[in-house]
Amino acid sequence: MTKQLISFIKELYETNEFIPLHAPTFTGNEQQYVAQTINSTFVSSVGKFVDNFEAHIESYTATAKAVATVNGTAALHAALYMAGVKANDIVITQALTFVATCNALHHMGAQPAFVDVSPISLGLCPKALELFLDEYAVLTETGPVHKATKQRIKAVVPMHTFGHPVELDELVAVCEKWKICLVEDAAESLGSFYKGQHTGTFGDYGAISFNGNKIITTGGGGMVLCKTLDAGKHTKHVTTTAKVPHPYEFYHDEAGFNYRMPNLNAALGCAQMESLPAFIENKRSLASLYSDFFNGSDYKFFTEPPYAKSNYWLNAIICPDQQSREKLLQETNLNGVMTRPIWQLMHRLAMFKNALRGDLSYSEFIEGHLINIPSSPIKSLGRV
Ligand SMILES: *Cc1c(COP(=O)(O)O)cnc(C)c1O
Repeated sequence: MTKQLISFIKELYETNEFIPLHAPTFTGNEQQYVAQTINSTFVSSVGKFVDNFEAHIESYTATAKAVATVNGTAALHAALYMAGVKANDIVITQALTFVATCNALHHMGAQPAFVDVSPISLGLCPKALELFLDEYAVLTETGPVHKATKQRIKAVVPMHTFGHPVELDELVAVCEKWKICLVEDAAESLGSFYKGQHTGTFGDYGAISFNGNKIITTGGGGMVLCKTLDAGKHTKHVTTTAKVPHPYEFYHDEAGFNYRMPNLNAALGCAQMESLPAFIENKRSLASLYSDFFNGSDYKFFTEPPYAKSNYWLNAIICPDQQSREKLLQETNLNGVMTRPIWQLMHRLAMFKNALRGDLSYSEFIEGHLINIPSSPIKSLGRV
């Protein structure tokens, strides 16, 4: 299997050179827009590309207001701040995620609590969430608190793993029942839709990342999706030092962040947004080729949930056992085809090892069996 997979991937990418997991593609107006910002001297915190990029994301995701930030972690931090998360609060998320999800809340003085992921989405499982709340939480007049410690349980942060949307209807219902804010870590899911609605727009806030390895990139960058215009205005205010507009006075009415995205990066973002539909089509075709390749083998290619249209940001396979996973990882990487195991679960990291957690058996299974395989758009599939 390993040998066949290596030659299959090399043929797809038509190269014998190193094949990374996900490389950025710049075949549109990137150079032109970046040159424009340099020529205009507006490379920094103000400029038309920031406004245009935000407007493009707003119309693409059909969200009330999008606020550009320096990176996805900053977007998550701002979103959690806006959701009212404070020091000593508990924020429920998945142990199977990239560390940024937990870092953002950790630096607010909040604590993560981990629940299992669902076999349908690889993201936060609504049933696991409900079981966790039933066991550990009690609903008070001011919202749910932890039964024993009385800490507030302020937010739930599902993550759309590899771009596959979580079971949102069910999660929204649990959050409404328990009066908990929903903040979606949509870092990986730009271009992924749940029953026709864009991910990151179901919760009170959503956070997108434009890091170099994501489906589109601004070099570094992020975006907060805000459900209401008022929340969006406040998010913009607080992520741009909370300066009250005035021709010359400096007055700040809140302890703000300097999280704004530079215009130079937004220029890249505007060009990349023009290519996004082509990237998605290309990556969905690639996923379907992989799906055919693994069909009938012991390796299960992970496909989008039935309710979703996924961006297939990173393709993933579930190996039959840990031994074959090791073998595949070693041989592909030795032969210039990059593959990677999924992240180690968050509760294994020293800083989160004492976090409250529910049963994590499916997360543990995935941790031991899943690997990611090359997922950049492919020239031969056209339009990129
Ligand atoms: C990429 C990513 C982030 C953070 O994005 P940065 O732009 O790198 O800060 C957050 N969460 C998840 C799940 C991610 O994959």
